Amino acid sequence: MSMTITYEIGDSLYLNITNRCSNNCSFCVRSKADGVGNASNLWLDREPTVDEIIQAIQECDLSRYQELVFCGYGEPMMRALDIVEICKKIKSSNNIPIRINTNGQANLIFEQDITPLLEGWVDTVSISMNASNKASYQAFCHSMYGDAAFDAMLEFAIKCKKHVPKVILTVVDVISPKDIQTCRAIANEIGVDFRVRYYLV
Ligand code: SF4
Repeated sequence: MSMTITYEIGDSLYLNITNRCSNNCSFCVRSKADGVGNASNLWLDREPTVDEIIQAIQECDLSRYQELVFCGYGEPMMRALDIVEICKKIKSSNNIPIRINTNGQANLIFEQDITPLLEGWVDTVSISMNASNKASYQAFCHSMYGDAAFDAMLEFAIKCKKHVPKVILTVVDVISPKDIQTCRAIANEIGVDFRVRYYLV
């Protein structure tokens, strides 16, 4: 049975809480390998419960890590309400910074604005922007929400700014320098940070 909940990349502790995702990106690391960082297999036979995730975190020596990152082999915000519950529990006894790596579609997934729930619990939201316009985004990411996904992702970034100290839009360096420039300009325009990620596999 496979249930790797925690794993390490660099000096961060990553949390693998779901394999579900509302996208099906053509460059997704999941189609290239079964794991990343020090985890050989991040496929879950079932999703861990909130209690199992909290227990797995508490079994780790958090003083060894700079950050706790909800990421996983899937879209962690498929379980946004569980994330908030887990953050509240962890932050009640430890002030480790918490980041969510997300595709930015949580408000589509939950059909409401969930960003106020993150306030006080989440320190950074890193959103995969992936493309400079909705057509390219959908061609890369194949969102189940179709053309609505790109604009909703940017709207999510804007809304997160009100509730989360650090909001970052990211792209992977598989797109053209011109597209990266356009993405950077959009991030500047909406007033969030921007980062280029390097393709891992
Ligand atoms: S959003 Fe992330 S987990 Fe989902 S398919 Fe794209 S790269 Fe993979």
